[in-house]
Amino acid sequence: MSETKIPYKIYLEEEEMPKAWYNLRADMKNKPEPLLNPGTGKPLTKEELSPIFCEELVDQELDDTTAFIPIPDEIRDFYKMYRPSPLVRAYCLEKKLGTPAKIYYKFEGNNTSGSHKLNSAIAQAYYAKKQGLKGVTTETGAGQWGTALSMACSYFDLDCKVYMVKVSYEQKPFRREVMRTYGASVVPSPSETTEVGKKILSEHPGTTGSLGCAISEAVEAATKNEGYRYVLGSVLNQVLLHQSVIGLETKTALDKYGIKPDIIIGCAGGGSNLGGLIAPFMREKLKGEADYRIVAVEPASCPSFTRGTFAYDFCDTGMICPLAKMYTLGSSFIPSANHAGGLRFHGMSTILSQLYHDGYMEAVSVEQSSVFEAAEQFARVEGILPAPESSHAIRAAIDEALKCKETGEEKTIVFGLTGTGYFDLVAYEKYNDGVMTDEIPTDEDIAASVAKLPKVNA
Ligand SMILES: *Cc1c(COP(=O)(O)O)cnc(C)c1O
Repeated sequence: MSETKIPYKIYLEEEEMPKAWYNLRADMKNKPEPLLNPGTGKPLTKEELSPIFCEELVDQELDDTTAFIPIPDEIRDFYKMYRPSPLVRAYCLEKKLGTPAKIYYKFEGNNTSGSHKLNSAIAQAYYAKKQGLKGVTTETGAGQWGTALSMACSYFDLDCKVYMVKVSYEQKPFRREVMRTYGASVVPSPSETTEVGKKILSEHPGTTGSLGCAISEAVEAATKNEGYRYVLGSVLNQVLLHQSVIGLETKTALDKYGIKPDIIIGCAGGGSNLGGLIAPFMREKLKGEADYRIVAVEPASCPSFTRGTFAYDFCDTGMICPLAKMYTLGSSFIPSANHAGGLRFHGMSTILSQLYHDGYMEAVSVEQSSVFEAAEQFARVEGILPAPESSHAIRAAIDEALKCKETGEEKTIVFGLTGTGYFDLVAYEKYNDGVMTDEIPTDEDIAASVAKLPKVNA
């Protein structure tokens, strides 16, 4: 195959799209620790989770053993509208960098939500509809998840209530209008519409909000409204499961051309795109069949992996959600308001946290001005305006490619380009005007929120 020129874009055939999601937990020797009931400190049961989440999603959440879970036809039919997504060889970026490295990116931004989030949104909406629910509630940070869920809910004719982190609501009014176009109602969070929102507002007047606050509000709204359940766009096991389509397609495309990656890179907010991208590769690594360097990239202003603690913590600021054992900065941690790059969640997927803890993957943190510099470099030669979140992965991929330039190694680098940045132009404007700053929490800042971790005997 080395004689064949690899096409710019490797497109798979429709029938090469995965027929089952891959559940990474099935092959992990050390399973991620279970979610705990914050009241009793005991693992959450199906009965306890069912008032919050759709039943079939609870089953997926708790299933640590089934390796492959079939994708229902209705979901595959929806996937066909925008999948398989292309795996692109970044020839122009390689040339510009003058690197012998070969760079590929899996592009998930080719749908109106502008990100990979639709992969899980459509699955979650499908199970809600199947259960006969009226609607779902959720939070959204930058807005991609809310948009994806609005699209999925309109497809299945479900009501959709979105609590949007206030700073994004104000910075990204157009996101809100896309969601409303798809029929969702959008509330800036924290809001006066929930008890937990009122409490957060009275304790932190003028707060610009966080994903953790918005999660608390959305969970409260779901449990107080008949016929509603809560859905979450990242962090949970079920979301990583749905996102495995990214990695499965990537692996099929690479295998088709006999390409073996050396380094796989993804940005990490709650860990869903990264968990999805690496899934089949990590499977080989866990089974001892192959080895890859796997790198999570996070913002220096919200460094859960690189400066967090591996402990049980709340997934939300209001402390009403289950406890998860993860790398966390503490649920009261709120990244600096001038952080514009997304990936603002204080914790991390329990699956990725366990894998990181067990030494199966690495993590790096990068500063936002260097992230936007990488975004600009990429945009100028690759013809895509990347999302700031995705640009964390671009930064790390460029850094690895530049190392290859020094050593002359022809490594193959694959990274996840999770989405597009058309709604992030306020952040791009700051960068272009030269007024973007890097706010990195001090050790004291992190210690203060970590000191508030719940006490759990586990
Ligand atoms: C939400 C989002 C992310 C981060 O979420 P993960 O769950 O860590 O994948 C990354 N990129 C884009 C474009 C997003 O919308």
